[in-house]
Amino acid sequence: MRPYSFAQARSVREAVRGAGPDTAFLAGGTTLVDLMKLEVMTPEHVVDINRLPLGGVTLNRKGLHIGALERMSDVAAHPVVREHYPMIAQALELSASAQLRNMASIGGNLLQRTRCGYFRDVTTPCNKREPGSGCSALEGINRGHAVLGTSDHCIATHPSDLAVPLVALGTVVHLGSARGERNVPLDEFYALPGSTPEVENVLRPGELITGITVPRSPWAAHSRYVKVRDRQSYEFALTSAAVALELRGRTIADARIAAGGVGTRPWRLPAVERALKGRPATPATFEAAVRPAADGAEPREHNAFKPALLRRTLVRALTELVESR
Ligand code: SF4
Repeated sequence: MRPYSFAQARSVREAVRGAGPDTAFLAGGTTLVDLMKLEVMTPEHVVDINRLPLGGVTLNRKGLHIGALERMSDVAAHPVVREHYPMIAQALELSASAQLRNMASIGGNLLQRTRCGYFRDVTTPCNKREPGSGCSALEGINRGHAVLGTSDHCIATHPSDLAVPLVALGTVVHLGSARGERNVPLDEFYALPGSTPEVENVLRPGELITGITVPRSPWAAHSRYVKVRDRQSYEFALTSAAVALELRGRTIADARIAAGGVGTRPWRLPAVERALKGRPATPATFEAAVRPAADGAEPREHNAFKPALLRRTLVRALTELVESR
């Protein structure tokens, strides 16, 4: 691990004062410390933000507010989250391991780095880790990689389960810096890799996530998250589906749908949402509606199964959701 300076902050203002591109904020540390040990991330300054007043899970007329330092396991177990936003709790419970969920923060989860093996192996070319060095995954082992939103410079999958239902539900991310505060829709927070895969989001140097707000909606309480992976525990998604429906009788009045494990960022599926709206909640509707889910996909040698698996994952999530009513 490279040498770095270390400081503890007690307020957001103190944490962001003087913070720049060489500063890393330490919360749970479940991604940062790993990557510092591997020398994939080499910050010169580490600021411990665990004493900042950025906790709390509250529901008001605007929606659900979750502080950035809330731990994943606490949010997953919170009765308000489980009752009003069940797919958020489900996505958290299907993430990582129990030990990691006890440590990892909500803000850190949204900023976790890709699990592309080449990114973590400093002996191999990786444009995300070392811009301009090349992408080892293009012709390498790419079974877990993305098929949507890729570029010739990077095909890494976005790793967060939590971000998938949050994008589906129109979540807003609250950011703080020495310049003040700003709010960004999560769907606009993540960047496509394009020719600059090292730029993963719109965070500016020295800026940190202070919390998120998930709006109130008629569909959030009737929602489900399904994750498909190579083993049933402690594994990242091959595909995942976050589905939320507003039903009037058996008719779908509105829908919010997003996918994980297939995109270079959490992937909202507006074409599927449109195809569901106004239709009866039946298997035939679901099968027809998911047809465009992987439109534009660019599979590689080892992940050509993902478009079909995504469609099946979506149908399963929709079916289980309707049957759970
Ligand atoms: Fe690096 Fe992205 Fe290629 Fe993986 S897919 S090796 S993260 S550039």
